[in-house]
Amino acid sequence: MELDQYYLNELEQLAAKGNLRRLPQAIYKGKWVEKEGQCLLNLSSNDYLGLASDTRLREEFMETLSERDFLFSASSSRLLTGNFPVYAELEELLADLYQAEGALVLDSGYHMNVGILPAVTDAQTLILADKLVHASLIDGIRLSAARCIRYRHQDYGQLESLVEKYQAEYPRMVIVTESVFSMDGDVTDLLRLVALKRRYPQVMLYVDEAHAVGVRGANGLGVAEEQGCIADIDFLCGTFGKALASVGAFVICRKLLRDYLVNKMRTLIFTTALPPLNIAWTRFVVAHLPQWQERRKHLQHLAAWLREDILSKGYVCPSQSHIVPLTIGASERAIEQANALQRKGFYVLPVRPPTVPERTSRLRFSLTAAVTEEEVKRLMACITPKSSVV
Ligand SMILES: *Cc1c(COP(=O)(O)O)cnc(C)c1O
Repeated sequence: MELDQYYLNELEQLAAKGNLRRLPQAIYKGKWVEKEGQCLLNLSSNDYLGLASDTRLREEFMETLSERDFLFSASSSRLLTGNFPVYAELEELLADLYQAEGALVLDSGYHMNVGILPAVTDAQTLILADKLVHASLIDGIRLSAARCIRYRHQDYGQLESLVEKYQAEYPRMVIVTESVFSMDGDVTDLLRLVALKRRYPQVMLYVDEAHAVGVRGANGLGVAEEQGCIADIDFLCGTFGKALASVGAFVICRKLLRDYLVNKMRTLIFTTALPPLNIAWTRFVVAHLPQWQERRKHLQHLAAWLREDILSKGYVCPSQSHIVPLTIGASERAIEQANALQRKGFYVLPVRPPTVPERTSRLRFSLTAAVTEEEVKRLMACITPKSSVV
């Protein structure tokens, strides 16, 4: 088993640093998680609006279905025979909501980010990506022929000087960012990026709104809606797997770019389309999206409370959203803290490298609209001040 020795060593190294991962064993019940006989409040889910745990909503959807909707497979790529009418219905609905020329539905956020950048860039393109963008975007950049420079997280000044420096050299530049960042919960000033784009005609904006869709903006369309710049984003990317309680992803873009993606995007062309039944559920959820303002408001309210509490206890907390990190530092300490909170009834998981930079292991509170004020109060009572966490 000499062959296996290499893999064994790697795993042992991860374990020594407290970074070994295992698939968690738990039973999920609505907003609760059952673990070793204990019922814990799930604070690690991306079900931000509480829709996935809303059984009434699911029942309502089931009533809209007839026999012909129960299609559990598309049996083919959308380019072949997998493009069921419900796809077009969902895309029309999205284009309508965003008042955009085009929307394209994809199998997952991962497919989206791995597929779009390689399709729309070439060796004459410069990608400027925020240092903290999601792993799927990094993989998309790696697969592309473009040159890429990462700028310091949300450092718009540095970004601007990079654009200025390289503008003559590259006929196309793509600025890649998230709107709500998944690990710090901070929010990008999209208007700064839009202003930059207006000054340089070769600049395009690619914004991943995975954590913002459903949650931000008057109609839940994301941060671009909230900041009033939907039309200025060239690739406005969202996912259905988080707040929208479904599966898949979408990009809002000009019709020309949509046509281009249909022809060039390998993770659209060479994969089986999502089952029509899932698309029907997504369409149902998206159609209701504007009406969930109360849930969005409640979520913002809880998040503001929790952030304030964490700051008052001496932690650094960059969050401006419902994703609230408690940055501990060493992975072992983060694991201990997570275990302590789990014993007190909160299902919180440690987030460690390589998901976050070294020495910034953290607990990541992911609030949802299903959480009550009472529950957040109890959680806050369990968070120890930074000075007593050694
Ligand atoms: C979750 C996430 C993705 C991946 O989306 P999936 O639909 O789960 O594959 C992409 N980008 C960001 C920023 C994410 O948080």
